[in-house]
Amino acid sequence: MHPETDVLHRGEGAAKAARPLNTPIYATSTFTFENVAALEAYHRGDGGYLYSRHANPTIEAAEAKLAVLEGAEAAMLTSSGMAATATALAGLLAAGDELVCSSALYGGTLQLVTTFLRRFGVDVRILPPDRFAAAGQLVGPKTRVVWFETPANPTLRCVDIREVAEACRAGGALSVLDNTFATPVNQQPLALGIDLVMHSATKYLNGHGDVTAGVLAASRALLARLQPARRFFGGVLDPAAAYQVARGLKTLALRVARHNQNAGELARWLEADTRVSRVFYPGLPSHPDHETARRQMRGFGGMICFEVPGGLDAAGRLFDRLGLIQRAASLGGTESLCSLPVLTSHHGVSEAGLAEAGVTAGMIRLSVGLEHPDDLVADLDQALG
Ligand code: PLP
Repeated sequence: MHPETDVLHRGEGAAKAARPLNTPIYATSTFTFENVAALEAYHRGDGGYLYSRHANPTIEAAEAKLAVLEGAEAAMLTSSGMAATATALAGLLAAGDELVCSSALYGGTLQLVTTFLRRFGVDVRILPPDRFAAAGQLVGPKTRVVWFETPANPTLRCVDIREVAEACRAGGALSVLDNTFATPVNQQPLALGIDLVMHSATKYLNGHGDVTAGVLAASRALLARLQPARRFFGGVLDPAAAYQVARGLKTLALRVARHNQNAGELARWLEADTRVSRVFYPGLPSHPDHETARRQMRGFGGMICFEVPGGLDAAGRLFDRLGLIQRAASLGGTESLCSLPVLTSHHGVSEAGLAEAGVTAGMIRLSVGLEHPDDLVADLDQALG
């Protein structure tokens, strides 16, 4: 055999003999078959793998962990949170159907549904979150899917999950909740009656700011409806990224407990400071949805929003003075990050849109990381000036 042939096969047997603690990264786009009988057995559903866009052991290991965390029968990883959203919408909707969604959604999700989905003939009806639970308004005769977030960005307003789930069930629509901000540690939407949970796994699930990924979690039957959409739109996750997500998931509960604790401490400190005009944190009794959050969340999360008097100029001065806390979009990682909603998540939104979302120019959003809380307080204290 020539070396250029031999090098392709040599050494590959070692992995089969080893008994690794972690599922290794199956860095392979395809899988081999012994013979026709093995291929036929695969197609009968007897197990095995064909091609990594369909399934891959590293991705499946991470999906099994995600399903356990969400209390779901199954989970499906995608190449980003947006890929998860696109896969779910493509799998569940057809021209002529109606999608109802909350106006307090991640900007990318809103843009996807109002541009592409409408172009494909799906009717999109957008409701402010406080009208979500209003009897009779949520599900119409053509509504197939209801999509919402709670807590919502950046005001952390909460919607009663059980009420939405029940209204959807009664009206024959599927309920979908983007659980990115809460994480399954703090909030279990499936147990509250939601049909499908979606995450940007880029955030807390991976948790280290080094991967872009998404996830959908639901019953096996519902995910089976979405499998073809992931396969044919192609939004599957790379096995190396799936390995990183699986590693992150092993410490999710520990990390989220610390995010909750740090954010709670910081929120209370900010609320007591006279240089701060308002603090939005669902764990504070002053938050308008504190009671709803208490009913449906086991912890209040690592996201805080607060407001300083003096609008964008004052918020910008604070932002520029931060030393330890990094100026960056995104959230849910080990390092604390700060963003100004009017220049990031809500950039370009009209005055009316901002007012509807409750977003003001003086708002500052914090993704509270895993630093010692005293160091975070010290940084905010000096930045408040
Ligand atoms: N949903 C929420 C709540 C988000 O914050 C984000 C990203 O910021 C997304 C979805 C989109 O996820 P990704 O950036 O992983 O595509």
